[in-house]
Amino acid sequence: MDNPAKLSILQLMKVDSDIIIVGGGLNGCILALALASGGVSVTLIDTLPNDTRQLAEFDGRSYALALTSKRLLSALSIWPGITEHAQPMLEIKVTDGRAGEGPSPFWMHFDHREIEEGPMGYMIEDRHLRRALLQSIEQDPKITHLAPETVVAQSVNRTTASVTLDSGRSLTSHLLVGCDGRTSSTAQRAGIKRSFKDYNQTAVVAAIGHEKPHNGIAHQFFMPAGPLAILPLTGNRSSIVWAESHARAAELTTMNDDAFIQALRPAFGDFLSDLHVAGARFSYPLNLTLADALIADRLALLGDAAHGVHPIAGQGLNQGLRDVGALAEVIVDAKRRGEDIGAPDILERYATWRRFDVTTLAWATDGFNHLFSNDNPILRVGRDIGMGLINSIPALRRGFIREAAGLTGDVPRLLQGRAL
Ligand SMILES: Cc1cc2nc3c(=O)[nH]c(=O)nc-3n(C[C@H](O)[C@H](O)[C@H](O)COP(=O)(O)OP(=O)(O)OC[C@H]3O[C@@H](n4cnc5c(N)ncnc54)[C@H](O)[C@@H]3O)c2cc1C
Repeated sequence: MDNPAKLSILQLMKVDSDIIIVGGGLNGCILALALASGGVSVTLIDTLPNDTRQLAEFDGRSYALALTSKRLLSALSIWPGITEHAQPMLEIKVTDGRAGEGPSPFWMHFDHREIEEGPMGYMIEDRHLRRALLQSIEQDPKITHLAPETVVAQSVNRTTASVTLDSGRSLTSHLLVGCDGRTSSTAQRAGIKRSFKDYNQTAVVAAIGHEKPHNGIAHQFFMPAGPLAILPLTGNRSSIVWAESHARAAELTTMNDDAFIQALRPAFGDFLSDLHVAGARFSYPLNLTLADALIADRLALLGDAAHGVHPIAGQGLNQGLRDVGALAEVIVDAKRRGEDIGAPDILERYATWRRFDVTTLAWATDGFNHLFSNDNPILRVGRDIGMGLINSIPALRRGFIREAAGLTGDVPRLLQGRAL
């Protein structure tokens, strides 16, 4: 039963918007659009200017979006604007590799034809996705976008959550959402601690052009220093994510294009024939950072602010988008029922929904990285046998494909492609 007294107090409280989102990265932007689609008013704040975040060279990553993440973007009407830039991922081949020696005979092969839903995911470049999101945000009357502005302080009381910006301005809402990335100051200010592990690896990311078509096949080679992923982009191009020691990554990022292709070749192999560099090189130091709690008083954490993981499985953003789907559904349903959207029991619904998933993924990616970024002969035999086994059992293979497509577990409405 609703408590009319509680509701009337809340209705009397003057707020600038229902929710304040700190951080307009991909997760913050998509959360703002999801909440707005359900009639929730949002203030979205980011340190960086809108124009900077829309530059093609702002972020060199390309994302392997799971099928359910694509469905979420379709439900929010973002997908039609970027579909021409999206490359369907039809197969994934995972190989234990050693530079110069080619693939080992033990490998795993996942083919989308083993499930009925179509491609298991899509590759999309950051420059297309981020720009489409920021443009949709500018047109949405339910979203106030403040950038550049930095949140420097926050406070909560019985009915509201407030922030102070570095410009001196203060804003009030019923709920604060921290989407401010791996070092989330929103979490720190709320006293939420986090586990941290440095992988001593840096990912070098670049677009590579090649002579032969990739046929929508993604490859993952496990090398002793770290994995090399070759991910299909539109046209005869692939995005590589190459994890190496910090020192080697610094060399790879700064050497000239010809030297880079020569350095890449022994790991990449010849299967796509001639290679050339098709864009700038970017580097990302890799670590694990996992918040001890997803919620606090009138605060929820989401995306990398809650769980920043190794890109080995290409799942960081996909998990963030599951957070988005779950939190937006909980909040929009609560608002429709006239409940206080920042109340502890509402936030607990979100935390209960997501806690198991985010913790499991964080430690699973950590375990994979340890198992595969390693030349220990015993581990090598063990993982080769494991890969051979998985590959030979169709039910296990299908399980992996459904997991990569995001089809397992309690899937939020938006990730099923349904409106809120
Ligand atoms: C090499 C690499 C490859 C990857 N590939 C994949 C992939 O294929 N598939 C996949 O699913 N995931 C992938 N990921 C993971 C994915 O990139 C991240 O999970 C995702 O980008 C995180 O987005 P976010 O919005 O949570 O955080 P961020 O991108 O870190 O955004 C945080 C935002 O908060 C802002 N901010 C911070 N503090 C404040 C403040 N005080 N006030 C206002 N604003 C603030 C920042 O300016 C920033 O814009 C990859 C990651 C790496 C490193």
